[in-house]
Amino acid sequence: MGQLQEKYKNYREPQRYMEAGVYPYFREITSKQGPEVTMGGHHVLMFGSNAYTGLTGDERVIEAAGQALKKYGSGCAGSRFLNGTLDLHVQLEKELATFVHKDDVLCFPTGFTVNSGVIPAVVGRGDYIICDDRDHASIVDGRRLSFATQLRYKHNDMDDLERVLQKLPKEAIKLIVADGVFSMEGDLCKLPEIVELKHKYNCSIMIDEAHGLGVFGKQGRGVCHHFGLQDEVDLIMGTFSKSLASIGGFIAGDADTINYLRHTSRTYIFSASDTPAATAAALKALHIIQEEPERIEHLWDVTNYALKRFREEGFEIGDTESPIIPLYVRDIDKTFLVTHLAFEAGVFINPVIPPACAPQDTLVRFALMASHTTDHVERGVQILKKIFTEQGIIK
Ligand code: PMP
Repeated sequence: MGQLQEKYKNYREPQRYMEAGVYPYFREITSKQGPEVTMGGHHVLMFGSNAYTGLTGDERVIEAAGQALKKYGSGCAGSRFLNGTLDLHVQLEKELATFVHKDDVLCFPTGFTVNSGVIPAVVGRGDYIICDDRDHASIVDGRRLSFATQLRYKHNDMDDLERVLQKLPKEAIKLIVADGVFSMEGDLCKLPEIVELKHKYNCSIMIDEAHGLGVFGKQGRGVCHHFGLQDEVDLIMGTFSKSLASIGGFIAGDADTINYLRHTSRTYIFSASDTPAATAAALKALHIIQEEPERIEHLWDVTNYALKRFREEGFEIGDTESPIIPLYVRDIDKTFLVTHLAFEAGVFINPVIPPACAPQDTLVRFALMASHTTDHVERGVQILKKIFTEQGIIK
């Protein structure tokens, strides 16, 4: 037996849930991603997607991707640095810079590679990186890859952030990084307070807009714009894998910092650029969200409807203020069971268990898209209400 096989032969965690018949992962989808999908042979309501603007199946986005595929081919076969820059990438960067009101933008292969490649490039030895303890895994990895001193504050606890900042040298570079919308719980970062602390302690701020883009702010410009604080945030990160119906990510900032990143960020330089189809799809989705404000308005209508209905039915939904609605279960095995029962009853939702949350905070994540109707939502609420009641999670 090989060393690795010897080491991992006793890794049984997933088997436990497979044997119990509740394993929820890697279900195969055989249709377009929309409000209803075919998954594992079942027709289900999709409440486990991040496509908030509901554009992944939009014919105009598909057409734009198809045209780019025909014109440029299937891949770029290299990084942006060398042979992988298309005029399409540059156009998308320019339009995104205007959209989020920053000097310049760089597009990366994924959102994950933005965080894991930007953070270690901008803060190094002698600097400090300070993160919310619920920041996304890609921010955690970026922090770990950095040679800066790594510090964390309790989720959205501004007293704790201040306690951390008080101890740091005034002149040192100190980067605070937070999710704009927290991806599992749906609550927002306290950006106005973070900005106050930035001025008090001489810091910089980077906000991850993965779940804010296409949802918050004028035309979906994100949480920084929602608070009117885009000029106070030094770096704005976004992804194309959610509201922009594609794959890829970006960093936006001042011209000098972006120029530095363009020549130093390892995930930008040493990873191939986004495919022509992916880039064209993101660009088209960016146009559509600006041209059709009614999409985001509808997203908020169904979100507010769902928030109201879950509250009325007695679900525990925490502090969410977004289309991400956490339905707390607070037990790992029951979280898998609820996810399974919901799937069997025609509702796809995501189980959230450690390390994505604390063991006592397990939940199922119910997320809205602009393509949902209130009828979809009501069907979802009714099915989940029955399951949560039968399992003794709600009364
Ligand atoms: N940041 C946050 C907050 C996320 O939720 C995600 C994806 N789930 C990412 C970054 C990574 O984005 P991508 O899927 O584009 O790699």
